[in-house]
Amino acid sequence: MTGVHAEPRPLGEPVLQLDQVTKIYPGATPVVALAEATFTVRRGELVAIVGPSGSGKSTLLQVMGTLDRPTSGTVRIVGDDLVRMSDRALAGLRASRIGFVFQQFFLAQHATALENVADGMLYSGTRHRTRTRAAAVALERVGLGHRLHHRPPELSGGERQRVAIARALVGNPDIVLADEPTGNLDSASGSAIFALLRELNAEGATIVMITHDRELAARLPRRIEVLDGRIVADTERNRP
Ligand code: ADP
Repeated sequence: MTGVHAEPRPLGEPVLQLDQVTKIYPGATPVVALAEATFTVRRGELVAIVGPSGSGKSTLLQVMGTLDRPTSGTVRIVGDDLVRMSDRALAGLRASRIGFVFQQFFLAQHATALENVADGMLYSGTRHRTRTRAAAVALERVGLGHRLHHRPPELSGGERQRVAIARALVGNPDIVLADEPTGNLDSASGSAIFALLRELNAEGATIVMITHDRELAARLPRRIEVLDGRIVADTERNRP
């Protein structure tokens, strides 16, 4: 796959670091949606963030994905402290370093699979031809080499999510944040997407998957459990 980062990227290096991250939504009764969350995700990891509805998972996704700023605490992506960055710098970092996969896919309906994925590299300033070539490789990688010119309405749910995954990966981000990626799929397509994420992780992608599904989370190597805005368990916490 075409990479946009030329520097070597050592396995095990911290890619996402949260330190004492708190998010309070103001209002008549302020809501503490996230309280002092602290954890590190290292390059090459596959992590589940698991918790019931209302536990703070979306808030955590927003903060990890630089889509929202915490009330206090620090968030670092590959060492860069987000709290100190301007909105513009943050948008650049988000585009180049983070890949997003959402439950609702969020694909452009009138664009082909190839165009949707190539758009995932728009920020990088690479030429149209280079982006298209990288998009084709990414679609091959997710098993959609035979659907390059199909548009989302002509694809199954599972295929749409594969396009979204290819789009998230095409710029070779440091980390992929997947928000309930199987939530909109039937169980067979969901299992296939889950297997694909594991495969991509085995090939080196760092992935954080948010889910309310404890059974799914139990099949991943590391689980961070959230309840009432607090991290109540992290299977890596006690490791060196
Ligand atoms: P989850 O994704 O696990 O369902 P959320 O992060 O969406 O949890 O929500 C955590 C808590 O914060 C909930 O109590 C929710 O009602 C509250 N909350 C989420 N977003 C907002 C907001 N924009 N304003 C006020 N409260 C919010």
